[in-house]
Amino acid sequence: MNKEINVSYLKSVLCRNNLSPNKLLGQNFLVSKHVFSKILNCARLTSEDTVLEIGAGIGRLTSLLADRCRKVISVEIDSGLFKIASQRLKGREDVFLIHGDLLDGKHHISDEVTHSLRRVHQSGPIKVVANLPYQISSPAIINILEWEIAVGRMCVMLQKEVAERLTAVPGQSEYGPLSVFAGYRADMTVFAEVAPSEFWPQPEVRSALVDIVRREPEITAGEYRVFSKLVNLLFQNRRKMLRKGLKMGFGGDAANRLIEKSGINEKKRPGELTTAELVHLANLLTETQRAY
Ligand code: SAM
Repeated sequence: MNKEINVSYLKSVLCRNNLSPNKLLGQNFLVSKHVFSKILNCARLTSEDTVLEIGAGIGRLTSLLADRCRKVISVEIDSGLFKIASQRLKGREDVFLIHGDLLDGKHHISDEVTHSLRRVHQSGPIKVVANLPYQISSPAIINILEWEIAVGRMCVMLQKEVAERLTAVPGQSEYGPLSVFAGYRADMTVFAEVAPSEFWPQPEVRSALVDIVRREPEITAGEYRVFSKLVNLLFQNRRKMLRKGLKMGFGGDAANRLIEKSGINEKKRPGELTTAELVHLANLLTETQRAY
């Protein structure tokens, strides 16, 4: 495998198959042995793990993952790459490749991926490991955290800017819906920063490997749909103070009641509210809506 992790090997495989990297599909392939090792360290795989990989590429990370766990399911959208990965991994019973899109629209994981996981994995949380295509990284993370399949840990390569939004805390300018929705269900830490030179072709931005560890929410949202609507609405007007933002979304009376019952300072702006405060507000909103 070592000789396969360099630019000339990758170029020769793509060239033999009349392929070149497709920017629209986020095809920045990893060409660094040392970053592959970092991903494997971050994922802390055991022989019991089932792993979902997003974007098999030519199947190099796929095979390194399969060497260390029970089963890898890898989904690849590009038919040319899917064909190469299938040939390279032929005969491996611990790898199951799916040709298709991870996502079905912006808000769902595709049924094919869900059903395939159900077929091969019966109990316990799975892991997700991926050098994520950057154009789908935020919806992929949120949909996976909200998925019916339990995911215990995700170890994903992201654009550094997305990693900063994901790991931001209240008061930071990067803090927003992505930090809140992910922070509702998981703890996130940057495991390593990765330079553009570790990929081919080189992306224009720096990347970061992020370790996402699932946990129970601090406070459970009674109706997740209400929480989600409230967060999106408040952050659409992120410069407005809480009372104004609530008034714009739900009317003056509801805004007054929510401020009074929650005890949250009305002068706070959405970017200063913790996930727990936002859930608290959403739960009060649910109560208020039920009462009227
Ligand atoms: N795993 C390989 C590596 O590390 O070198 C490739 C990673 S590359 C950053 C992202 C891969 O995801 C590409 O192979 C791309 O074709 C695939 N991809 C892009 N969008 C996808 C989607 N919506 N569903 C599944 N795979 C996708």
